[in-house]
Amino acid sequence: MLIDTHCHLTDQAILPDQAAVVQRAIAVGVQRMITIGTGPEDHLRVVDAIGLYPQVFGAIAVHPHLAGEIPSDFIAAMRALFAGQPRLLAVGECGLDYHGPSANAALQRPVFIQQLELARQLKLPAILHVRDAHADALSIMADYADVPHVVHCFTGTAEEADRWLKRGAYVGITGIVTYKNAPDVRAVAMLVPENRLLVETDSPYLSPEPVRKIKINEPAFVVHVAARVAAQRGVCAEALAQSTTANARRLFGPRLE
Ligand SMILES: [Zn+2]
Repeated sequence: MLIDTHCHLTDQAILPDQAAVVQRAIAVGVQRMITIGTGPEDHLRVVDAIGLYPQVFGAIAVHPHLAGEIPSDFIAAMRALFAGQPRLLAVGECGLDYHGPSANAALQRPVFIQQLELARQLKLPAILHVRDAHADALSIMADYADVPHVVHCFTGTAEEADRWLKRGAYVGITGIVTYKNAPDVRAVAMLVPENRLLVETDSPYLSPEPVRKIKINEPAFVVHVAARVAAQRGVCAEALAQSTTANARRLFGPRLE
C-alpha cells in the first residue's frame, strides 16, 4: 500500500471527477490520501471530501500565494474547523514562496508564523511549501523545532535538503523526480534517510512520467513517483512503499491508520 501524502482533490481540475479519482487510487493500492486545502473556501471543500471517503484525510492552511487575500480572523476559522474534524491531520500547506516577481516576503512571513503557532498549540504537524526561500524558512523553523514537519514537493538542492534533515524534517518527493531536467530532485531522493522520506503527487499538478503531458495528475499516479524513487535508491517497490507508509503514519499520527 502507498499513501499519497499531498494532493488537491478539491482543485477544479479534479473536483468534478473526485469520486472516480479516489476509486482509481484505491484500485492501484493507494489506500490513503491527504488532500490539502489552500485557503478559506477550499478548507470547506476539504471538510466535505474527508466526510465522503474513509480513505481521504485532510490538511488545511493558507498557501503563501494567498497570504495577501485572507480575512484577519483566518486563524480562528481554521481553529474551529480543526476542533470539529479529527480527520484533519495537519496544518498545511503553509510556508514561503519567493518564486516570481509578485512574491511578497513581508506579507508571507507573518502568515506562515501564525500558522506555525497554531500547529504548536494544536500539537499537529505542519506541511511546508518552500520555494526559492529555504534560508528564510529554515531560520523561521529554528523557533519551531517542536512542530514535526515535512517540506513538501522538495525542489531545493542536496545541501538545502541536508540542512532540513539535520533539523528533523521529512522530505516529500513528487513526480518531478521523473523529469529529465531534475537531477537535483533525484539527488535529494537518494540522500534522504529511509525514515524521513515521503512520496506525494501534488495532483492535479506535476503529472509524473510516463503520463506527463498526457493525463491530469491524480493520487493513483503516486505509484509512478514511488517506482522512480525506489529505482533511484536501488530498493524494491515494496520496501519503499512500506517505509514511506510508516513514515507518513509517524508524522501524521495514528489517526491515519
Ligand atoms: Zn500542494
